[in-house]
Amino acid sequence: MNEAKSLLSSFFSALYPPKCAVCGLVGFEEVCPQCKQELIREELHFIQPIAFVDEVWAFHAYEQTAAEMVKALKYHRETALGQCMGGDVLDVYTAHFASVDFIVPVPIHRSRLARRGFNQAASLCTRLPQAMVREGLVRTRRTTPQVHLSAEERANNLEGAFEALAIPKGCRVLLVDDVFTTGATASECARALKQAGASYVGVACFAAKRRDFPVSPASPAYDLPEADQ
Ligand SMILES: [Zn+2]
Repeated sequence: MNEAKSLLSSFFSALYPPKCAVCGLVGFEEVCPQCKQELIREELHFIQPIAFVDEVWAFHAYEQTAAEMVKALKYHRETALGQCMGGDVLDVYTAHFASVDFIVPVPIHRSRLARRGFNQAASLCTRLPQAMVREGLVRTRRTTPQVHLSAEERANNLEGAFEALAIPKGCRVLLVDDVFTTGATASECARALKQAGASYVGVACFAAKRRDFPVSPASPAYDLPEADQ
C-alpha cells in the first residue's frame, strides 16, 4: 500500500514537479534560494495610518519578490508559500504584538473560500500560537476585488462588509493580512472589531506598500461604543 502510494506520488511529481513560486525554477517547493536572497527584509511601521487601526507592522515592502509572493499565494494557490511567509508574520508578532489578547485573520467571503479553497490571511497564521488565533470576523457580503478599484472606491466597496463575532470588551486584537496597501480592508475590519468592544487593533502583514499614510481623522467617521475600562 505504502509502495503504491509512493509510486503514485513520484508519478505526480514527475508530471507536476515542484517549482519556485516566484521565478518558476523547477525543484523547489516554495521559493528558490536565489529568490529568497532577493527578498529583502525591511521593517515598515505605520502608527495610526488609517481610521480605527492603531499600528501596522510589515517586514517587507510590497515590491518585487515580496509582491510576487503575495500574488502567488493568493492567485496561484501556492499554499506551501503560506508556511514560508507565515514565518515572517510570526517574527512580526513576536517582535511587536506579543501582548495582544488574540489574533484574527482577515476573512474572505464563504463563496470565495469555496472557490479558492483557502484563505490566504489564515494560511499566514499557521505558525502563530494557535490557541490565540480566532475567527473573530465574518465577511457578510461579497465585494469586488480591491485590486480593480481606486482608493475611494475601495473604502466604499468594503463599507459594512465585515461583522465581528463576540469578543471581550477592551481586548487587544492583532489583525493578520497578506498585504497592506490603501488600508481600506484593515480599516473596515478594525471598525467592526472596535464597535464590538476591542480597545486596540494592530495589523501584521507580510508586506506593505511603501508610502506616507494620512494620519487618521481626530473624530472617526463612525460612532464607536465607549470602551469599558
Ligand atoms: Zn525563484
